[in-house]
Amino acid sequence: MKAVVLEGKENVRVGEFKDPVLEKGSVKVEIAYCGLCGTDVHKFQGKGGSRPVTYPVPLGHEASGVVCEVGEDVTEYKVGDRVTIDPNWSCGHCYYCKEGITHMCENSRGVSKGLAEYVCAPQENIYKIPDEVTLKEAALTEPLSCCLHGMDLLDVKLGDTVAIIGMGSIGSIVLELCKKASAGDIIVIEANEEKREKAMAMGTTLFVNPLKENVMEKIEQAGIKNVNRVMECVGINDTIETALQIAGKKAIVVLFGLPDPKKDVPIKMRSILQREIEIRTSFLNPNTTERAIHILKNKDLDLSQIVSMEMPMENVPEELKSQEYMRNGKVIVKIKGES
Ligand SMILES: [Zn+2]
Ligand SMILES: [Zn+2]
Repeated sequence: MKAVVLEGKENVRVGEFKDPVLEKGSVKVEIAYCGLCGTDVHKFQGKGGSRPVTYPVPLGHEASGVVCEVGEDVTEYKVGDRVTIDPNWSCGHCYYCKEGITHMCENSRGVSKGLAEYVCAPQENIYKIPDEVTLKEAALTEPLSCCLHGMDLLDVKLGDTVAIIGMGSIGSIVLELCKKASAGDIIVIEANEEKREKAMAMGTTLFVNPLKENVMEKIEQAGIKNVNRVMECVGINDTIETALQIAGKKAIVVLFGLPDPKKDVPIKMRSILQREIEIRTSFLNPNTTERAIHILKNKDLDLSQIVSMEMPMENVPEELKSQEYMRNGKVIVKIKGES
């Protein structure tokens, strides 16, 4: 089959890769669309993914498609079903799975390498999508489900002041979800000036460019007294430090952006302690896939604000290098497309 294959650090090619093997209890999906994720860039740059990377491996994990074959013992799915794939598999029998925190599974592995013509995934990772949801929209299920987990942790109350750091695809989805959650003032902190207009159009109260403006000063000038909730969607030292600096007294800070495993972040512990800041971290998308599908079905998000580009597999290596379109939102890779 054709796939976008990662051969090593900064070494990616589009070409032949061995077909996945259909095992008992698994479903083979002909992939329609797959989103490109910051994690794919991390893997490309040799910074690892959510789990260790073994080469060669196809990239991608945000896939939708149509069932083309079912393995032995599969009862819930049939050929022709339109589906999306949760890329994270958990065993169901370890301590953490039994405690219901499946994303902490000791035997957890990634199942879906969606930048390929075919994926075989265990049936427990397969979700049917309703007719109202296109296959292209369905490729957004995984990032949206990750955002829902992050939003659960952020625990926005009606009228809360929320700061979102980084307005890539995750930050854009979080912004829309915060509006849905009736947050009060929303501050977007983003170094790309071109996103100012879009952020304001999406209902941001205050946009701050940290490369040009002093974030604390801007917040004070805007008359915002206490930032109750902070969502950090970048994962680099500067933005994590900003998140902890702007958090108000008794604030909740959710760290969502995946940091470089080799980097340590110095934190001003005394000031954090005195404000009684609660730092939470958001990892993967435990039990949020069905809710993500409901949101897509009800057209509760303006996806045109999130998707910046659609491209064929052939363009992915260049995009991983330049991140030209990823900087502005979600890139969706068309594999087979809508059939
Ligand atoms: Zn992703
Ligand atoms: Zn487990």
